[in-house]
Amino acid sequence: MHYFDYRGGELYAEEVKVSDLAARFGTPLYIYSAATFRRHFSAFDAAFEGLAHLSCYSVKANSNICVLRLLAELGAGMDIVSGGELHRALAAGVAPRKIVYSGVGKREAEIRFALETGILMFNVESFGELERIDAVARELGKTARISLRINPDVDPKTHPYISTGLQKNKFGLDIEASFAAYQRAKELPNVVPVGIDCHIGSQLTSIEPFLEALTRIITFNERLKDIGIVIDYLDLGGGLGIPYDQETPPHPAAYGQALSERLKGRSLTVILEPGRVIAGNAGILVSEVVYTKQTKSKNFVIVDAAMNDLVRPSLYQSFHAVREVAPKGRQPVNVDVVGPICESGDFLAKDRDLAAVAPGELVALFSAGAYGFSMSSNYNSRPRAAEVIVDGDRVVLARRRETYDDLIALEGPC
Ligand SMILES: *Cc1c(COP(=O)(O)O)cnc(C)c1O
Repeated sequence: MHYFDYRGGELYAEEVKVSDLAARFGTPLYIYSAATFRRHFSAFDAAFEGLAHLSCYSVKANSNICVLRLLAELGAGMDIVSGGELHRALAAGVAPRKIVYSGVGKREAEIRFALETGILMFNVESFGELERIDAVARELGKTARISLRINPDVDPKTHPYISTGLQKNKFGLDIEASFAAYQRAKELPNVVPVGIDCHIGSQLTSIEPFLEALTRIITFNERLKDIGIVIDYLDLGGGLGIPYDQETPPHPAAYGQALSERLKGRSLTVILEPGRVIAGNAGILVSEVVYTKQTKSKNFVIVDAAMNDLVRPSLYQSFHAVREVAPKGRQPVNVDVVGPICESGDFLAKDRDLAAVAPGELVALFSAGAYGFSMSSNYNSRPRAAEVIVDGDRVVLARRRETYDDLIALEGPC
């Protein structure tokens, strides 16, 4: 569910006409709906009401500070994967005790920053990281709360680039290595195991893989108890999918219900790290048609957004619905919607039936709120798009469009 809909032949973001926003802020333009963010977070969080839990929004999905602030106000914790994301979470007013830190390559300075901040816990992904966290904590005279990220070897049945819980993935440690790592953690003076962590992948459209992973983790937790390690937190990561096209992912309530059944009677606090399910359908990317072009085999619609703005189609062959901002009832034609970047991989949509749009008209790419702007770049020296948040009839410029001077501001002198 989201608050982008058509009224009187025009696309609206909540109470505001999308075409008005494009005229005011230019294109390409990311538009987010505050009500959709609130609705998604509240529905997600409510789904786990029956359990002691903390919903830690995955900052990397959409890390705009205004988005983080909006979620922090609803009580969200945050899941971070870098020092930069920690900086953002703190700037957004998130309490350090609601922050968990994931990622395979945490550097020493990042570990120090997180320890000084006093985050809830580190999700540790290797023996090397475990030793390093202990060493940095010792230097600072602190004790680091940690969990080990277990790779449960469960197939999340999603795109290979967003599968993380298979044996061949770089993430976490397998069950036996994790057990050895907990034993090692027990010996280290400046780390204390407080949780078990796992995150098996993204855009899951069934809860079965989550439950399979949970079963393995519960068994693992019993083994930890046998060696005297009692944990408080079960971090089950993120990964719940959203409808981009025809997918029918489970509602968070079904996931919450299934977790409650399996975890009742255990004194564990569940941590969840939702990203896409909160942000994905809370944003659209609006773009202007620059040219149309017919070749012998294809019809191209060349728009002013490109893979530097939204890389998901190029990177994961992912689907974003493309619709006219002001539909005029014309016959659809089969087109590829492409950007101006000098790469054949620069496409936003392939083989779509889209009305025969003309230069100067606007199209919207839906479900662009997660892994959209946050994965954007300046490739081809394209200034990054502006981001606006609509809240009812109120509009906030959440990030101004970059200028040509911004592009070179950090370079030289040379
Ligand atoms: C990316 C990521 C998430 C969020 O995944 P979604 O599919 O967006 O919910 C959660 N936890 C970790 C460790 C991640 O890397």
